[in-house]
Amino acid sequence: MTAEELLQTVAQEVSVCQRCALYRNTAHGVPGEGNPHAEVMFIGEGPGYHEDRQGRPFVGPAGAFLNELLASVGLDRGKVFITNVVKHRPPENRDPVPEEISACSEYLTRQIAAIDPKVIVTLGRFSMARFFPTARISQIHGQAKLAEGRLVVCMYHPAAALHKLELKQTVIDDFKRAIPAALAEAARLAALGKLGKPEAKKDDDDSAPPEQLSLF
Ligand code: URA
Repeated sequence: MTAEELLQTVAQEVSVCQRCALYRNTAHGVPGEGNPHAEVMFIGEGPGYHEDRQGRPFVGPAGAFLNELLASVGLDRGKVFITNVVKHRPPENRDPVPEEISACSEYLTRQIAAIDPKVIVTLGRFSMARFFPTARISQIHGQAKLAEGRLVVCMYHPAAALHKLELKQTVIDDFKRAIPAALAEAARLAALGKLGKPEAKKDDDDSAPPEQLSLF
């Protein structure tokens, strides 16, 4: 199947997903959207009110800020792929719980495998934890690290930056510096054959901790 078809299949499954209880009291599943051949893939936490209404990721205030951040590095939503760790809105925007994250994890695994992005950007703690379960966002934000055979850059969540003014400039600076640098580094590592196209991550396999090599 093509990347488009694989992503369409995931989207179809998400639209009727009952793997956890989150689907109850939601209007739409939010599988994610964007370019099936994106070089950069963004992974947020979970849909909020606006995303649930529209069935699209990052369309509320955090999404407006994300659009500005994308523009600051010459990207737009048509060039990247944007999704979330959980595909249905947690009630009252509470944090997703581990059972919900693990019920949804296989969708994300398939989306990453289909798109095969050069760089993954995690937005917030929950998507960071998928790749770096013991890391602290305050210590690794804006750094590119290898995980699952690709470059992963962890960023503060845009919504957190909107609520805490001192984080906003950090996020702006991280974006402008880390994303172009990560793309250049990904190209260099790929040319050296050092970026593996990883096997789809087995969701029940915790035996291989991600490599925590900081590149810049
Ligand atoms: N916050 C997220 O983490 N994801 C969205 O889609 C919107 C807000």
